[in-house]
Amino acid sequence: MPDTATTATRSKPAPANQQLANQRVAWFNGKIMPESEVRISFRDRGVKYGDGAFDTTRTFNGRIFRLKDHIDRWYRTLKYLRFDPGVSPAEMMRITEDVLARNIHLLDKDDDYWVSQRITRGAEGIEYLPEAPNVIVECLPLPLKARATQFRDGIKVLTPSVRRAPPEVISPRAKTHNYLNMIVAEQEVKSIDPTAWAVLLDVNGNLAEGIGANIFLVRDGQLFTPRLNYVLAGISRQTVIELARAAGIVVNETDIDLYDAYTADEAFLTSTSLCICPVRSINGTGFDKGGLPGKVTKRLTDAYIKLVDCDFVAQHLRRLPGKSV
Ligand code: PMP
Repeated sequence: MPDTATTATRSKPAPANQQLANQRVAWFNGKIMPESEVRISFRDRGVKYGDGAFDTTRTFNGRIFRLKDHIDRWYRTLKYLRFDPGVSPAEMMRITEDVLARNIHLLDKDDDYWVSQRITRGAEGIEYLPEAPNVIVECLPLPLKARATQFRDGIKVLTPSVRRAPPEVISPRAKTHNYLNMIVAEQEVKSIDPTAWAVLLDVNGNLAEGIGANIFLVRDGQLFTPRLNYVLAGISRQTVIELARAAGIVVNETDIDLYDAYTADEAFLTSTSLCICPVRSINGTGFDKGGLPGKVTKRLTDAYIKLVDCDFVAQHLRRLPGKSV
């Protein structure tokens, strides 16, 4: 299993010569500064066209999960989009660890961070702006409270009419700043049921992915998940595949359509922040008859919890109304 650890923890002292700030700081074009002082011009192509790219990992108990995998994926996206961040992957890992170390003291007990690298193309032909990309490394507390009911009840999935942009248009394997395809889909679904999450079909009618999550189905004890041409290669998707194979569970990366979804025994979503979260239903067809999570989902969730040494399910459930952290 690739690297799961990092150096920064809540108990570790902040880097030498560093003043602990009382607001989050970010790394912006080579400098550490208060997050609220990071400024990007409205002339930036990232603002104008969504011409940017990012990657995001999360911490568990204050430690970054699979940072190298996220950095490697970010650099693949950068290559695809012909971006040069001017910083090597090894240096970007060091910067990311440093940003976390400088912000870790601001994290509440039992909270964790999203930690992201971002780039925008910058401006062109503007006399007062350098023609250079803007590069940012930042972190933000996870929305654990907002997601708590999903872990209690499972996620209601609806498939919108909008299809996931195919690789012929723009590769879904690149994690760009332009999420409009999935935002339009999410808006359609939320207008039907504000509690539902969109999982888009691809242009062939197969399940693709949601705005920030990959999908898995379970049938007869085997896993089925869309192959990579039409979806982002989620790091949590890959983690689940590795955990499943280690547990002797067969994983099929293949086309799966709504027939497969409606006849599945279980379904779950994976993402950096959710890790694994059970799906309650897809377009009204439920998976909750035997209780949620289903047997295989539970087994994989337990394995994930063991791997990351953090009970992310309990971390969410503690935030339900009436519970205390
Ligand atoms: N698909 C899309 C479109 C996403 O934005 C994300 C979130 N990065 C995922 C899938 C899940 O990927 P990961 O497990 O790396 O968070």
